[in-house]
Amino acid sequence: MTVNEITCIIEEFAPLGYQESYDNAGLIVGSPNSIVNGILLCVDVTLEVLDDALARGANLIIAHHPLIFTGIKRLTGANATEQTIIKAIKHGIAIYSAHTNLDSVWNGVSMIMAKRIGLEQVQILSPLTDNLVKLAVFVPKGHAEKLRMDMFNAGAGKIGGYDQCSYNTNGTGTFRAGENTNPFVGNKAEMHLEEEIKIEVIVPKPILHKVVSTLLKAHPYEEVAYDIFPLLNANPRAGLGAVGQLPKTENEADFLERIKVTFNASCIRHTKFLGKPIERVAVCGGSGATLIKDAIKTKADIFITADVKYHNFFDAENKIVIADIGHFESEQPTIDIFYDLLTKKLPNFAVLKTNVKTNPINYL
Ligand SMILES: [Zn+2]
Repeated sequence: MTVNEITCIIEEFAPLGYQESYDNAGLIVGSPNSIVNGILLCVDVTLEVLDDALARGANLIIAHHPLIFTGIKRLTGANATEQTIIKAIKHGIAIYSAHTNLDSVWNGVSMIMAKRIGLEQVQILSPLTDNLVKLAVFVPKGHAEKLRMDMFNAGAGKIGGYDQCSYNTNGTGTFRAGENTNPFVGNKAEMHLEEEIKIEVIVPKPILHKVVSTLLKAHPYEEVAYDIFPLLNANPRAGLGAVGQLPKTENEADFLERIKVTFNASCIRHTKFLGKPIERVAVCGGSGATLIKDAIKTKADIFITADVKYHNFFDAENKIVIADIGHFESEQPTIDIFYDLLTKKLPNFAVLKTNVKTNPINYL
């Protein structure tokens, strides 16, 4: 299998279009066409992880955090990142990252955290806005069913827990084929009337190009009439963080003790307990302090995240407990997201988890 064939599996789940503007997710080192013998999964790519890949015969590393964030002007091995890049190229190891795109998709980083905690009725904490478009296409009746299914299979028509959602209106299309055309139906230079169906579906922007190219392939007309409208609706199926209910209320201290074990955290920094049972829990893998207000708004009793600064803790304002479990600790489940995705599609392929603990933070 090639690097590209494997990374397509990840991108089917977490399209690169979902990454934040500052991010650098995707293939970072290596050729998309090189053949992969084994895959090593990790949160961060370090020299130690690279050595682990070499020792275990893996030549594709898939990480949550991108090895390179900003432009590199020279490659002299002056720092650990440059040394890692040089060594990876020398040994033919490709490096790929799924970062903020993995944070934002349904069943991404925060949703996996929510599942580990045992939350139910899980929703996105901060749904993406400016993410959805309405696509309307006009198709002859006999071709409507196939075109609709093809668009669904490409990811169109998902609303909440429902898929294959569309609206269909019967109508009559008119057109007159010009001199240099090759009309599917009707004659040149004569106006033609055709019974058509207008199919309307919702599409997330990051997969719009895929849905439109599917549509163009499935449509019989030489010139396809379709409209794309931006929507003001938020996308409840994509965004940062997650929030859900515990099946049974838990005492604050007992709950945090359980979180410590679940995420293998040596230490949890938190605001004062409010003396009420924990029932509704918000989470955000990685640096989630910007979502404190969203967590309060959704009436969560506690917000579990990482990288919370001193002043952020004041934002709890006796309305919520803020708990910082550590960046690495909160994002370690990303390895399992990759693992489950890849082993399901490639049951006989060598998919390995790194043995290297890349968390740079130690606790005394
Ligand atoms: Zn992170």
